[in-house]
Amino acid sequence: MSRAYNFSPGPAALPEEVLRQAQAELLEWNGERASVMEVSHRGKAFMALAEESEADLRDLVGIPADYAVLFLQGGATQHFAQIPMNLAAPDRSADYIVSGAWGEKAVREAAPYVGVRVAATSEASGFTDLPPRADWQLDPGAAYVHVTSNETIHGVQFHADPDVGDVPLVADMSSDILSKPLDITRYGLVYAGAQKNIAAAGLVVMIVRRDLLARRPVGLAKILDYAEHAAQGSLLNTPNTFGWYLAGLVFKWLKVQGGLAAMGERNHAKATLLYDAIDGSGGFYTNRVAPAARSWMNVPFTLPRAELDAAFLAESKDAGLLALKGHKAVGGMRASLYNAMPVEGVRVLVDFMRDFARRHG
Ligand SMILES: *Cc1c(COP(=O)(O)O)cnc(C)c1O
Repeated sequence: MSRAYNFSPGPAALPEEVLRQAQAELLEWNGERASVMEVSHRGKAFMALAEESEADLRDLVGIPADYAVLFLQGGATQHFAQIPMNLAAPDRSADYIVSGAWGEKAVREAAPYVGVRVAATSEASGFTDLPPRADWQLDPGAAYVHVTSNETIHGVQFHADPDVGDVPLVADMSSDILSKPLDITRYGLVYAGAQKNIAAAGLVVMIVRRDLLARRPVGLAKILDYAEHAAQGSLLNTPNTFGWYLAGLVFKWLKVQGGLAAMGERNHAKATLLYDAIDGSGGFYTNRVAPAARSWMNVPFTLPRAELDAAFLAESKDAGLLALKGHKAVGGMRASLYNAMPVEGVRVLVDFMRDFARRHG
């Protein structure tokens, strides 16, 4: 086996135990004498999987009955547009808090379907911080307030649930869902592409307060209508059955790990290891994000000279550390430390970084 420590921002590493289980039952799943990919999504076995995975997620997060759980497709990006279609209308407005590239994209995709107000942005800082709460220009009449709980590219994360009063809070949690405890009652709707912290690409998990589903306009195509998906248990059409299956395995894995509180502690410890190594490198490595807003999931950092980037990437790969290249919008490196990254992987990365700095400093 030569599986490396994979710091990919997404699609990202999955827990090895989950991959091994999927491998073991790939040809024959659940006594069906066929793979989970080869059975009807309306058959008894898959319906049971659907129910059990939802129950496990409800258990993990603590989701009350007045919230629906949906297993959808289209990536988070499709829901940038679909959320305003369902929760707002072109003659209403919604407030967007922009703290990075994904928030900007959410604004662009929503604009045809709702009057988008950028109520706060940290663009002036180069997205190295969250917009200070005192500066948010919230409209109490907004259909909802949209935030990106973790900006995957800029490495900026909310560490407390934003307080937006009575307006429903909508959060794109694609890159930090299930990484720490989640008080879902603070949110109207939470959604996440699965390929970072839940499963393989092609699945979106959404948790939405049921009363918000009633807002959908008359005439919305069924396939775009969250209320329809909720009414049909996310089986309105053929779902991403394999992605859903993997998500179910990951939920069970998270329970075995001790649940979201344990994951939060572990993720905090991993991030602290790496930030301490960056801050303690005597200026060799730099992370520009304001300490209180630093992401536990995605850690961008630069080297003292861009000419060193190629050597860092080649040598880290040889050392069994994959996918550390930063996003082009930020440059340098980025280490993504989602749930499936063990503490040991971060220790190996930090040791490599110290050694690299010593040799090239
Ligand atoms: C990756 C990511 C997306 C995009 O997800 P797709 O599934 O590719 O549409 C959106 N938001 C955030 C925060 C992300 O990290």
